[in-house]
Parts: sequence; structure tokens; C-alpha cells
Amino acid sequence: MSIFKKGIYFGVAVCDVSTGEFYATQINQNNNFERLLDEMSRFTPAEIIANDLLYSSTEEIAKIKERFGLYISKVDENSFSTNTDNLVANYEIVTDKGEKVNRFDDKLFTVSAINGLLDYLNQTQKIKLEHINTIQIYNTNKYMALDISARRNLEITERMRDKSKKGTLLWVLDKTSTSMGGRMLRRWLNDPLIDITEIRNRLDAVEELKNNLMLRGDIIENLKKVYDIERLIGKISYGNANARDMISLKNSIKQLPEIKSILSTTSSKLIQNLYQNLDELKDVYTLIDRAIIEDPPISVKEGGMIKKGYNEEVDELKSATTDGKKWLMELEVKEKEQTGIKNLKVGFNKVFGYFIEVTKSNLSQVPERFIRKQTLTNAERYITEELKNLEDKILGSQEKLINLEYDLFLEIRCELAKQIKRIQDSANIISTLDVLTSFATVAEDLNYTKPTMTEDGVIDIKGGRHPVIEKMLPSGAFVENDTYLDKEGDRLSIITGPNMAGKSTYMRQVALITLMAQVGSFVPASSANIGIVDKIFTRVGASDDLSMGQSTFMVEMMEVANILKEATSDSLVILDEIGRGTSTYDGLSIAWAVATYIADKEKCGAKTLFATHYHELTQLENQVEGIKNYSIAVKEKGEDIIFLRKIVQGGTDESYGIHVAKLAGVPAPVVKKANEILKSLERKSALTQKATEKENKKQPAGQLDLYNYKLAELAHEIDKINLNELTPIEALNTLVKLKESVS
Ligand code: ADP
Ligand code: MG
Repeated sequence: MSIFKKGIYFGVAVCDVSTGEFYATQINQNNNFERLLDEMSRFTPAEIIANDLLYSSTEEIAKIKERFGLYISKVDENSFSTNTDNLVANYEIVTDKGEKVNRFDDKLFTVSAINGLLDYLNQTQKIKLEHINTIQIYNTNKYMALDISARRNLEITERMRDKSKKGTLLWVLDKTSTSMGGRMLRRWLNDPLIDITEIRNRLDAVEELKNNLMLRGDIIENLKKVYDIERLIGKISYGNANARDMISLKNSIKQLPEIKSILSTTSSKLIQNLYQNLDELKDVYTLIDRAIIEDPPISVKEGGMIKKGYNEEVDELKSATTDGKKWLMELEVKEKEQTGIKNLKVGFNKVFGYFIEVTKSNLSQVPERFIRKQTLTNAERYITEELKNLEDKILGSQEKLINLEYDLFLEIRCELAKQIKRIQDSANIISTLDVLTSFATVAEDLNYTKPTMTEDGVIDIKGGRHPVIEKMLPSGAFVENDTYLDKEGDRLSIITGPNMAGKSTYMRQVALITLMAQVGSFVPASSANIGIVDKIFTRVGASDDLSMGQSTFMVEMMEVANILKEATSDSLVILDEIGRGTSTYDGLSIAWAVATYIADKEKCGAKTLFATHYHELTQLENQVEGIKNYSIAVKEKGEDIIFLRKIVQGGTDESYGIHVAKLAGVPAPVVKKANEILKSLERKSALTQKATEKENKKQPAGQLDLYNYKLAELAHEIDKINLNELTPIEALNTLVKLKESVS
């Protein structure tokens, strides 16, 4: 990735040199640096080059290194020129819709970043990379913005704990048949769309593939025979493809006409489009098919690659080598007759070449014209004029053949390199088809439903499930839940419930369903209306987020700050126990203030799910418009609790943490003590509750009431006194102590 910084703006260009994909954009709206980080996490580059200004911005560089831990180097400012001559002459420059770009004066940061990257590639790769031929200039507004912590938290393509693919959304959705399709799926999941038409087109295509079993089966069967065309093209462009790679390419291309004819009967717009644009590459197929044998050797410098009939000279040289064997046998028979030596043999070794071998007992019969070459214990070896000539002919033609085959091979590879763009386009269509088919298969297998996309800002999910947790649990064990969020009275849900009840799971499920819908996938729900969101944010309280390392609370607050700045009324925000990383009062105060701010339509108004263990926040429902309380139901059964996993309206006031402690096997005396402490604390807050209710009436909405702990303490002490057991003296002493504690 190359990043060009000018003022507060950035140009970004990124290239995968193995496949030739090249994208570029510029960032010139608000909060540019945060957006730059979003772009970086979208592509997760392996290496970054920067211009002077960025490279010397120590704070920004430090942040990039901290978050991505990658290699950044500075490149000369001259590389980042705004000159477009080279670009226009040598590259196809298109928009994300595939239209040709004609105007660059409004894209100068982009141009600089592209030039910087191309220059760097030229210098480091040393050859012209034919497969880098199209540059797509995209608009950052085309995709849903997903900040780094959302990508990580939602475990879209890798797990937080071990970076593995298992247990991620990608793992659930990946039923692709080709590695190209697998890579494209990963890209799609990282780039959810926001354009309603584009999303609907994908969904309609998935629907058709899901419903038409025959069509899907035929497509999958053919896709399975397609190799990684993109990587093969990369090898051709780099000049290290061998004849076997060409055969792989041929066998892949072989499927194209079949796939095209399968697609001809489809009706959805997107698949029809793929059908129309699919180039069958018949000429490329024919070229390889005519020239290269089916099972060529790995080496390209030892011959044996070119098919019979492709080149006359190759055929002649080949027959010279095979005919050679015949000539030698004929020579042996002739010499036996002429000399009368019955066991005379023609042989070959690497040092002496061809020879005639005669055993010692027959030496007397050897004629003059035999020239001695080598003496063995039992025999002598000779050469003759005639044998020498044969040898030249045989060995010479072999060498010529190897050289000629190599030259022809290079010619063919060069010819293929000229067709790279067309091959790439077909590969892209195959990948797209593969991803859509994968979505259809998953939708069918896992009973997903087609979401209805709208632009009214309402998220209305019935019977929603978490795609990953559902798959990890025994079939049918996952408990479905509904969700309703809108831009009016149901903007922010405060979700309470005991530990382990399923709060985090529920909130992530809503985010994942929304994301899946905008990627174009069916979703795990019985029905889903998804009002398209522009961004998804998630923030998990510091102590829940083990992967963060030190200064977690600071990081937590930085990310909260970013959410408050960036979230719009079209965004979806998931806040999971924020404020946990600090003391109770700090944490509660922050959580309270953050919830109030987000709920404020004037300031933010994003759709928000807010899980918290601060039950005090449930008071907000009555105070702030747009906030609703929910909790995840549990059932008490004697001493124990049963997790019902059902989200219900209304808050809880019990945390059941002690029940969980008991379940986990914390020793009985500790559990008992904890219960006692809890009871006495509850008595205190029951008292303060009345006081706060009175005050609430006077206070403006959103202001936090802190408890009068002294009063509670006192009440608790009085409550503890057992009047039946108290002597008059003890009563007096108690009264003295109480008085002391108040003064
Ligand atoms: P919380 O955030 O409330 O502490 P989690 O969301 O982490 O709880 O859920 C704890 C565990 O409960 C999950 O790992 C999962 O195994 C299970 N779980 C959560 N939601 C459901 C559900 N809807 N159906 C079945 N099991 C669930
Ligand atoms: Mg949780």
C-alpha cells in the first residue's frame, strides 16, 4: 500500500502483486486519519510506503505501527507525481462501477499514491508486470465503514484469540469451490455495500441460485475443475510459469464455454450480466492445446513439452532422436555380420559417448577401421567413422530440440501474457459466480432467509440467530431472538442480564446479520428487514477484551471517542459493557453519559445496542426519548438459575453473578458470604432508590444521581439491630455509636 499525505488529506493505492489487483482512493472528508486506518484494515497490507509528510508525522506512524505491526518505508517525494501520462497510456483506469475514468483533476491525491506505488513496484520487481493492467479508483463511500475494532470483534475473517479462520463468519459462509472465489468472499466480507441496488442485485442472484438446484449443481461441478487462474496469470506475468501451469490454465479455461452455456438460462440481473461478459477464451485454449502436451515435465529447459504437429522442426528433430535408436541397432547387426564377432555390442556412456564393445577373447577378429577408445578388464571399446557420424546426428538433434522447445515455450508464454487482461476478467466473473453460489449453498444448508433491504433506517429481525455460535452448538440448541431498532422511539436498547446470559452473543448477532445482508448474503433469521447502515461500530469493555494488551482502558476510551465523533443516525453501534476498565463510579458515569449522548438525535442518534452490568442505566428509559430497556431472561429454580437466552422488554435488577460463581464451583462459604454482602447492599440501595426517585423529578434528564452512601450505611446499621435481644445498656451504646458515625 502506498500512502500519500498532503495537508490533512490522504491518497491511498494498494496492489496485490501476485494477482495484479490494484485499487486506489483518496480521503478528504472528516476525521481523515481514522478513515485511513479503516482503509488499512480493509486491505491489511503487508508493507507500506509513505511520502515525506506522512513518514515524518511521528504520532500517526506510531499509531499505524501499533495497530498493524507492519513495515513502513519512505519513498522519494518525486515518485508521488501528479502526472497522468503514464497512467493513461499504459493502464486501464476505471471506477468501481467499471466505467472509464477521464477526469483526474479532482483525484490528484489518488494519482500521487498510484504513481508512488507503480514507481516502487518498478524499482523492486525489475520487470514489467503485465498482469497489473487495470487500476480501480473507488470511492470510500461505496462501502460500509467498519472500524478496526468492529472487524476484530465481530470475528469476520479471523478469530480474536488465535487469528484462525475457524469460528469466524468467513468459516460459516465459505462454501466456495475455487481459491479465487475464497479470496473474493473474504474481500466481500471486508467490504459490505451500501448501495441498495447493488445489494439487491446480489441477493436476487443468490435467490435464483438457491432455488434452482440443477443450475447450482451444474455450476459447482464445473467450478471444481477450475484452478487458481489469478495465480497462474501472476506466474505468467512474472515469467516463472512452466508448461504444467499452462496445462492447468488450459484445463481451467476448458470449463468456460460450459459454464457460459449453463448461465444462459438464468434470469437474475447480476448473473445475466456475468453471462453476457464471460469471455470463453477459446483462442487461448486452442493455443495451449495445440502446443503443449498433456503431462509436461516441471523443467522448461529439458524439452518434452511441445506437442506433435505444432512445429515442423520440432517434429523432425524428435524423429531424429527416436530414429537414432533404430540406426544404432541396424549398425550393430551389420558389424556383427562383417566382423563375425557374435557378442559385439553397441553401447553408450556419458564420458565416451557411443562405442562398440568387443570381449578380450574376440580381439583377434577386430578390423583395422575400429579405433580403440577405452580398455576394460574383460573387453575393449572402439569407435568407427560411421558410429561417430551417427553420434553427432543423435546428440546434436537432441540439444537442438531442447533449445527449440524452450524458445517456442517462451513465445507461447509471451503470447499468453498479451491476453492477461481478458483472462483476468474471466477469472473475476468465475470468482463472483463462485461466491454467489457459495451464499446460495449456505442459505439452503443452514436455513437462512433473504433479507428485505430498505432505506428507512429500521432494522426489524424476527427469529434471528448468531451464525457462528449457532453452528458450534448442537442443531436446534440456539435460541432465536427478535430485534427492533429504528430512527424514532427505538434507537437505543439498554440490555441487562446476568453474566453468561447471552448479551454479547445477541448484540453481535444483530451486527452480523446486518453486515451479511449488506454483503449480499442471506441471513440466519426467519425474517429480516434491514434498513441499510452506513457504518458499524463495536466496542467491548476493556476487561472483556483480552487481546488488547496494556493501557486497555485508554484504548477503550479512544475508541469510544471515535465512535461518538463518527457515528451518524444511519450507523449501528454495539457497546458491550463499556466502562468496565475503571472504577465503578467512573465506569457508571461514563456509560451513562455515553448512552445519553448517542441517544440524542441532535448529537448522534445512531441505532445502538448497549449491554451493561450497571443496572442503574435502566432508569434512562423513563428519562431519555429513544431508549428502551431489554434484558435476557433467566428463570430461578430454588437456589439455581436457568438461562433462557430469550430477550424480553424491560430491565433486570438482579445480576445473578453469585449464581454464576456457584455454578462455576466457587466454594460454598464464599458464595454464602457473597450472598450476605449482596443482601446488605441491596437494603442500602432500596433506601436510596426512594430518595433518588424524588430527586429525579426535579433533575434534568440524563443527569447522574450518585448515592448517599452514608445514609444507606446508617439505615443498614439500624436495620441490623435486633430489638428483642438488646438490653437497655446495649441499646444506649448502639445509639452512641450511630451518632458518632453521623457526625
Ligand atoms: P454475556 O455477554 O451475557 O455474558 P454471552 O453472550 O457471552 O453472555 O453468552 C454466553 C454463552 O451462552 C455463549 O458462549 C453461548 O454458548 C451461550 N449462548 C448465548 N446466546 C445463546 C442463544 N441465543 N442460544 C443458545 N446459547 C446461547
Ligand atoms: Mg458479554
